[in-house]
Amino acid sequence: MYHDFPRNASFWSFLRAVDDDLAAETRKKGCSCGGRLHSANYLRKPRGTPAKLSEQECLRLSFCCDRDSCRKRTTPRSVRFLGRKVYLGAIVILISAMRQGPSPRRVRELSARFGADESTITRWQTFWREHFPQTPFWKVARASLVPVAEILTLPYSLVDFFLSRNRRCRGWTLLLQFLSPITVPGALQTKVSQ
Ligand SMILES: [Zn+2]
Repeated sequence: MYHDFPRNASFWSFLRAVDDDLAAETRKKGCSCGGRLHSANYLRKPRGTPAKLSEQECLRLSFCCDRDSCRKRTTPRSVRFLGRKVYLGAIVILISAMRQGPSPRRVRELSARFGADESTITRWQTFWREHFPQTPFWKVARASLVPVAEILTLPYSLVDFFLSRNRRCRGWTLLLQFLSPITVPGALQTKVSQ
């Protein structure tokens, strides 16, 4: 049922625009030391993108503090990049979810299209099954879904939750925004660092 997301370039440009907004919010807050944030984006080379993306669209937006005594990097939330994963977040979610969905046969087709091999997909599934549920984000965020959605399998239940209630583009955008807190560096750590 949810075997696809919008593949046209305009959807990816739209996600970039959402990232711009998230970045602007972060920049406004400034550095925790009180310094101002300057752009210090880095270029990612996401694999398997459905449309040909420009270099602009592959930038992971990020900032650096302008105080010499600090220079701390601040990286805002993103609806495009999921942590350090090479693939765009939507692809990691979609392919993992499809394998759990009603038509696992389509996974082969999808993974061929995006060039993700078997072992990559297995890693993603381990991530969703074992790692993601242990994150501080999910422990809190799942409470906002549980009264309405039965969370049986991740990430399929998430895709189902957002896409069964919304049109495709909007559903994907809401899902990616929901997950965006886990895209900042350190957010996927499950151990509390002292
Ligand atoms: Zn600073």
